Amino acid sequence: MTTMVSGAAMVAGVVGAPVRHSLSPLIHNTWIAAAGLDAVYTPFEPPADGFETFVAGLRRSGVRGLNVTLPFKEIALRLADTADTAARAAGAANLLLFGPDGEIEARNTDGIGLLAAFARQAPGWRPDAGPVVVLGAGGAGKGAVVALTMAGAEVRLVNRTHARALTVADGFEGVTACPIEDLAKALGGASAIVNATSAGFGGGDSLDLPFDAVPPEAVVMDMIYKPLRTPLLQQAQARGFRTVDGLAMLVGQAIPSFEALFGVAPPMSVDVRALALKTLGETERR
Ligand code: NDP
Repeated sequence: MTTMVSGAAMVAGVVGAPVRHSLSPLIHNTWIAAAGLDAVYTPFEPPADGFETFVAGLRRSGVRGLNVTLPFKEIALRLADTADTAARAAGAANLLLFGPDGEIEARNTDGIGLLAAFARQAPGWRPDAGPVVVLGAGGAGKGAVVALTMAGAEVRLVNRTHARALTVADGFEGVTACPIEDLAKALGGASAIVNATSAGFGGGDSLDLPFDAVPPEAVVMDMIYKPLRTPLLQQAQARGFRTVDGLAMLVGQAIPSFEALFGVAPPMSVDVRALALKTLGETERR
């Protein structure tokens, strides 16, 4: 269904640098069309040092809100007047909502996306099923730690630069930083592994996981979705592990974002995952 965009259209978007690669405009505009909304969702790419000016200009502009991607997630939180628990705990926001009075509210829906991806692709898995090993202590890793601990998981955090893992773990109950040299030990008894590093992005060098140490019932998740079947997920599948991909997380975070931006749930009648796969040049090979 195609709807004309009128002068009264609801306006929202995604801001990042670069933003060209973002699948969010495809996902949200597909839902907008399917729901028959008078709305538009636009990509924005301010200069790296121009984010604050860009956001200030949108206060009271009528723009309803923005998804935020790299490198602006941390500054987005700092610029907001209020923030939800997930954004505060992660120290980063992936969603800014502009109120009619000029107030900016920060939220973080990445954690919802992560858990939704597990629910969809590894049904029956529970955060309290056993320790979850999170690989990576950057923004995505910290977001995963927040979501998983809030859901009741015990987390073992492993990062190439151990000091960074120690700093993140320090702020959370139930999180242990494990040196990468002890990775095999950390994987023992794990119920899930979440790759939140950028290793393997674009088909580049992947992490070398000692899979022999991983319990057979563990679920292996990779946040990277370019390629969809990362080397890590391919190795896990070849060994019979259940896997969860990064595209499921991306769609999972977009659902609550759409609801917050446009006031209605996205129509599930349209398969945005299939469209995203086509854009990525991928096919469903689960
Ligand atoms: P950051 O730059 O903040 O962190 C990068 C992390 O990767 C660090 O922990 C870094 O370790 C680690 N790392 C990088 N290269 C290697 C390597 N060769 N070997 C081991 N560790 C490495 O990035 P983000 O945390 O923001 O993003 C991480 C990944 O998650 C990206 O690929 C991103 O696309 C993806 N992502 C996916 C989302 C989704 O919806 N599917 C949402 C958010 C992110 P060190 O500290 O030692 O440098």
